[in-house]
Amino acid sequence: MHDQRQHIMPVYAPPPEVFVRGEGVNLFTEDGTPYLDFISGIAVTALGHGHPVLVKTLQEQAAKLWHTSNMFRVPAAEELSRKICEESFADRVFFTNSGTEAIECALKSARKYHWANSAPERTDIVTFTGAFHGRSLGAINAGGNPKYLEGFGQPLPGFKHVEYGDHDALDAAIDEKTAAVMVEPVQGEGGVRAIPEVCLTGLRKLCDERGALLIYDEVQCGMGRTGKLFAHDWAEAAEPDIMCLAKGIGAGFPFGACLTTEAVGSVMQPGSHGSTYGGNPLAMAVGNAVWDIMTDPAFLEHVRHISGTLTQGLKSLADTHSDKVLGVTGKGLLCGLMMKDAPKPLQVAARERQLLVGVAGNNVLRLAPPLIIEAKDVRQAIGVLDDALSAA
Ligand SMILES: *Cc1c(COP(=O)(O)O)cnc(C)c1O
Repeated sequence: MHDQRQHIMPVYAPPPEVFVRGEGVNLFTEDGTPYLDFISGIAVTALGHGHPVLVKTLQEQAAKLWHTSNMFRVPAAEELSRKICEESFADRVFFTNSGTEAIECALKSARKYHWANSAPERTDIVTFTGAFHGRSLGAINAGGNPKYLEGFGQPLPGFKHVEYGDHDALDAAIDEKTAAVMVEPVQGEGGVRAIPEVCLTGLRKLCDERGALLIYDEVQCGMGRTGKLFAHDWAEAAEPDIMCLAKGIGAGFPFGACLTTEAVGSVMQPGSHGSTYGGNPLAMAVGNAVWDIMTDPAFLEHVRHISGTLTQGLKSLADTHSDKVLGVTGKGLLCGLMMKDAPKPLQVAARERQLLVGVAGNNVLRLAPPLIIEAKDVRQAIGVLDDALSAA
């Protein structure tokens, strides 16, 4: 048989390993070799692989009902939206199949809000360099990464990009045409950079003064990843008007959510937006189960505790290998090693030692392990990275 890989659109270049099974923090190849998964399908399988509660939930729902579309009520979606609103700033939730679609809903909602409030000229979305918001035309224009825009025609109007950390440029960019400022409280793809908490508070204040909405993209950094349910929960008085969630919210079942205040959500009326699959019974069954596990205070306490252990381990690696490692970056279990050179060789060396990690930005080795890791998993990962750094 010819190589079937030639029929996959070549937008990814995966390594040769094929994983056929997962259990907890491990992935297994056909021959049973375990790999320690410290990237979680990029911050997705937050409860590890094959979590028994999630498996049972999905199996039971699969036997009952898969899909009706949003033409009909989906009680599990109503239940999850209520829970989300009880634990967040939000009053309204739109469920999607992915993070990118949550971003699209956020962008449309922000513009519609101003249109409905007699400011139709407010259409600009202000974002930051190093941002990543997904791969749709809207999302690549919001992200503004030239590499992702190349070849896809003129950049869309209505997006402004400000240098990350440049307060003066931000101040100048927000004007009477601004619909919203959109930001990841911890940048993922851009290099695992956590925005200082006081800056989020300042940004909230600035948006209020200028009549702009504030959108958080917590697709990667939300859902317990930093040790609080949402990354912005670490900051005082920094709640957004709109927030996007995905990745960890389904723990491997594909879905996302766009959360809004009542003022924003209520302008989205029948016909404003939609999704055939968004919030379908399979996704919502899993979503409720994930939510109940993650919102347990003891669960988040565990994440904060184990984050400290991992950060300590990374700091000691940075000390030992200061010839190659510049420092530790990120927040909670979305963290990494800032390297002097490209991080790819270290990622490969780790994989050769059965540890799966990611990369981000130009020079960051990215870690996003399942939130259920324990001290022994951290010891194993740090041991492998120590060995791989010594060999490299
Ligand atoms: C992954 C990601 C997205 C896009 O989510 P998809 O599910 O891949 O569409 C958007 N924003 C951030 C911050 C992400 O990490």
